[in-house]
Amino acid sequence: MSAGTDLSGRRALVTGASGGLGLHFAQVLAAAGADVTLAARRFDKVEAAAKAIRDGGGSAQGVALDVTDAASIEAAMAEPFDILVNNAGISGTGAAMDLPLDAFEDVIRTNLTGAFAVARAAARGMADDGGGSIVNIASILGHRVAGHVAAYAAAKAALVQLTKALALEWARHGVRVNALSPGYVETPINAEFFATEAGQALVRRIPQRRLGRMSDLDGPLLLLASDAGAYMTGHSLVVDGGHLCSSL
Ligand code: NAD
Repeated sequence: MSAGTDLSGRRALVTGASGGLGLHFAQVLAAAGADVTLAARRFDKVEAAAKAIRDGGGSAQGVALDVTDAASIEAAMAEPFDILVNNAGISGTGAAMDLPLDAFEDVIRTNLTGAFAVARAAARGMADDGGGSIVNIASILGHRVAGHVAAYAAAKAALVQLTKALALEWARHGVRVNALSPGYVETPINAEFFATEAGQALVRRIPQRRLGRMSDLDGPLLLLASDAGAYMTGHSLVVDGGHLCSSL
């Protein structure tokens, strides 16, 4: 009998959990039995989302956390976690020629430095507590490029490499570190773009000819977060309908 994806008794923290994929990941982990802490800058939003999980029979609470703020990371990490989903991210789109350095640095600060700061704080607690699993939410743009997302693609590629570096250093502490690299997933924020001709043209380049659904990430997330992935570390799990394999 192989190890399953039951997360009963596990404590999980999800950053950027006030909406989009982060909220979905929190709901999936809670449904698998984890006690989930939903972290985001707006406490009222994550606490409301946590209450909805509790009302549905799950175990959850909200915490205020800005991944660019060291004090808020320290406060949110006062208790150790078994699972961290490093999901907070910003896109910072714009033509590279005109992209202000501040905008470039904002993306690096949130998507790379922020992810490292939260992972480091979580790993310290995990190392003292018998180990754990860190899932960094990267992107197919960490593996290939597209126009007007230079900072984002650079940050996500660095996050994939950081994942391997941390996996190497932290394996001895029982801490696994993997990346989950989604392709284009339909969320309320991008639904309008994907309804346009340009959006539909993009969808035609995906071998499976459809966008990802949030639920497409459930199994891969649980694999990396749970004991089902016990021998996986330093991996980037791509979930993209074949988009990275599209014809050149
Ligand atoms: P989103 O904008 O809905 O969610 C991002 C979340 O991060 C928000 O809740 C936001 O408040 C939070 N956040 C931003 N800066 C933060 C900070 N400093 N501290 C704490 N929280 C902060 O976008 P999403 O589509 O749900 O994206 C979630 C993650 O998935 C991101 O890392 C994104 O790069 C990645 N991703 C998304 C897609 C997609 O198609 N939606 C594809 C690949 C990767």
